[in-house]
Amino acid sequence: MIKPDEALRIILEEVKIQPIKEVNLMDSLGYVLAEDVFSDINIPPFNNSAMDGFAVIASDTVGASNNFPCKLKVLGDLAAGNVSDIEIVSGSTLKIMTGAPVPQGADSVIKKEDTTLSGEEVSIYCEAKKGGNIRLAGEDIAEGERVFTISTPLRPQEIGLLASLGKSKVKIFKPPRVAILSTGDELVEIDKPLSPGKIRNSNTYSLTAQVILSGAKPIPLEIARDNMDSTRKLIQKGLEVSDILLTTGGVSMGDYDVVKDVLDDLDAELKFWKVAQKPGMPLAFWCFGEKIIFGLPGNPVSTMICFDEYVRPAISKMMGRKHIFRPEVDAVFEHDLKKKPGRTFFVRVKVRTENGKYYVSLTGPQGSGILKSMSLANGIAIIPAEKTLVKTGDEVNVHLIDLPEDH
Ligand code: AMP
Ligand code: MG
Repeated sequence: MIKPDEALRIILEEVKIQPIKEVNLMDSLGYVLAEDVFSDINIPPFNNSAMDGFAVIASDTVGASNNFPCKLKVLGDLAAGNVSDIEIVSGSTLKIMTGAPVPQGADSVIKKEDTTLSGEEVSIYCEAKKGGNIRLAGEDIAEGERVFTISTPLRPQEIGLLASLGKSKVKIFKPPRVAILSTGDELVEIDKPLSPGKIRNSNTYSLTAQVILSGAKPIPLEIARDNMDSTRKLIQKGLEVSDILLTTGGVSMGDYDVVKDVLDDLDAELKFWKVAQKPGMPLAFWCFGEKIIFGLPGNPVSTMICFDEYVRPAISKMMGRKHIFRPEVDAVFEHDLKKKPGRTFFVRVKVRTENGKYYVSLTGPQGSGILKSMSLANGIAIIPAEKTLVKTGDEVNVHLIDLPEDH
């Protein structure tokens, strides 16, 4: 039995960054940039108006006020998308819309609200500031500038910036394909009736959902039955189509727990089996050529927590992310919890903030099959192996699986 830190270290040592793939810009959201991106233009490309108003020469408006407006001759108007060859000379102005290029001669824009227009004459009620309401060429991004470095996660704002650079295709680290295999004679599919002794296969669904949120590509397989033939057939199928294979169930000590035997037969290299933790003790990990295999325990909460603590960081690393772990906080524990020494406890908690401090309370019974208390949780509190008692008011480390509640 190894410690959780050691298990994580072994896993992260084995996983490699994925190959690079070029995709359409809109297919890159949520992935990580696999190239540096430079701009071949200024953004904005030309000086333009930040307001609907009038393009003026600032010195023309000196002394202008509500009582003594300055009057200028309007030479025409200019909408966004057009250019004007009119040059502004002293005493004249051009009506201009937001985004339109500032005409020659003008050095400021007065906003429409500070003017009144009558015929070809506009009255201006305030002094213009030189450069006022003008967005300068290149003020956002200069031509030749490195806009993004490799490893930048692509969020909506990066997508927008890449679009303005004209990057219709971008290079990303390819999301790994993750095959998901539930094992168990007791399992029935969710659209089938339950008969005596049977339960619904929920792990395939919770894991598929976790894989989707991690950014990888899930490939759910059919249920493997608790015999060597069925399990071997589906493990082989999973390995053919994936970069990572997740199995659930069948890695404990039961008579019908055949996942390890099948992988032994296939000559997969077992890196560890059993981690000193609760839930999720039977967790196993193999390498198989370039592929990796996680033998997740069958209990629904064990499966989910093992995914979050071990598989998710591995996927994040493969996808080129720099930050591969959940954010963590220290929080005040609001219960007394007794435990035996020897195993790290991953405890389902509700995290809340109050006056800038984090507090955590248990979400309910902590049995490894009790998915309801997982559903109520937005954090996993880590109770170190050597601890035998956590008291109300003690600080614990918490992995945030969701945003804390604000009370
Ligand atoms: P095992 O590790 O195969 O002994 O399974 C441990 C527990 O998890 C048993 O109670 C199983 O019925 C349950 N279990 C295993 N696989 C699944 C699954 N795919 N969905 C829901 N429960 C499962
Ligand atoms: Mg089983």
